Amino acid sequence: MARIVMKFGGTSMAGIERIRNVAMRVKREAEAGNQVAVVVSAMAGETDRLVNFCREASSLYDPREYDVVVSSGEQITAGLLAIALQSIGVKARSWLGWQLPIRTSDGHASARIADIDTVALDASLAAGEVAVIPGFQGLAAGERVTTLGRGGSDTSAVAMAAAMKADRCDIYTDVDGVYTTDPRIVPRARKLKRVTYEEMLELASVGAKVLQTRSVGLAMKEKVRVQVLSSFVDADGASEPGTLIVGEEEIDDMERQLITGVAYDKNEAKITLTAVPDRPGAVASIFTPLAEANINVDMIVQNIAHSTGSTDVTFTAPQAELARVLDVFEKQREAIGFEQLLHDTRVSKVSVVGVGMRSHAGVAATMFKTLGDRGINVQAITTSEIKVSVLIHEDETELAVRVLHTAYGLDVEDTAA
Ligand code: ASP
Ligand code: MG
Repeated sequence: MARIVMKFGGTSMAGIERIRNVAMRVKREAEAGNQVAVVVSAMAGETDRLVNFCREASSLYDPREYDVVVSSGEQITAGLLAIALQSIGVKARSWLGWQLPIRTSDGHASARIADIDTVALDASLAAGEVAVIPGFQGLAAGERVTTLGRGGSDTSAVAMAAAMKADRCDIYTDVDGVYTTDPRIVPRARKLKRVTYEEMLELASVGAKVLQTRSVGLAMKEKVRVQVLSSFVDADGASEPGTLIVGEEEIDDMERQLITGVAYDKNEAKITLTAVPDRPGAVASIFTPLAEANINVDMIVQNIAHSTGSTDVTFTAPQAELARVLDVFEKQREAIGFEQLLHDTRVSKVSVVGVGMRSHAGVAATMFKTLGDRGINVQAITTSEIKVSVLIHEDETELAVRVLHTAYGLDVEDTAA
């Protein structure tokens, strides 16, 4: 007997027919003798609808009440799945976030899970009941309902798996695994059998939107074995193996590639401050007010000083934050002492990721040469131990992803012959 968490996304929960299919799948795992907790998302599109209601009601809505509203989508699907399970003879009940409870911080709309009480849940599972748990929701001190940020039910599932000491956490979604890159851009992208937590974390943070980034960090910390697989099944009701997210020690040298994946993110903006005084403290005067405004900065480039004793500073931030960034600098114009404030949203960040690059030289050089040969200009660069990212013109994203995928030998071999 194993303990498993199964998580179903919004597409799998969109409508009673699909919920019945999910129930069949859960039944199969339960009848195989497993203890099963199911974490569900709201029906696809439902959370957007609820968010819009809040905005319509008031542009300055109370985040505590926003959480009351937007958490309701998962309450509905959890109840419906419990009903569907009961109707096919599976003992099941729902457990809302406040009933377990799932304790969180009070950061409404993006709360963090602090602790999950599993005493009552354990007793229910031991009595042979399937537990159905709405994702995305929790309870803060003061008994207020919270939500975990968009896409947060992945994090709910991983946190449940950690708290229950589950043997695995299977995330059923509308893609059938993690690919070397976006298959819509590169049809020869390969599905990865295994990927390490660290790689997945980097891939998620640079645009591969399979899992909420935070859920991957949590899985890594708690060593939860996560499997991403398709919620759509073949004729006999089984799904193909997906991608396992595991510790590095589980990946053997045979299957290790230099680069594991290529990702892109078109949601960044490039901001440049020209003629900033070239003296100690100048960079701090730029980035401190941004940090105080809670704006995340990613790539940073400081050019060499002009003969006039000034320098240009370029960085990237999420496009959605651009208005706030500009506002911060208009207010700090005197304190920083720059000349011009330039920005460009027609940029895209392309990254290559792989734990293999730790022990190999030349990964970045290959990237720059491959892009240069195609006439793609690099505007900024950042690296980590297992990632190299470049900022390029947005229109060149697809070309860059394609040529890099080929250059690192990631294309699937031609199987046509
Ligand atoms: N329903 C929430 C959202 O759409 C949480 C989730 O599905 O992960 O963001
Ligand atoms: Mg999701």
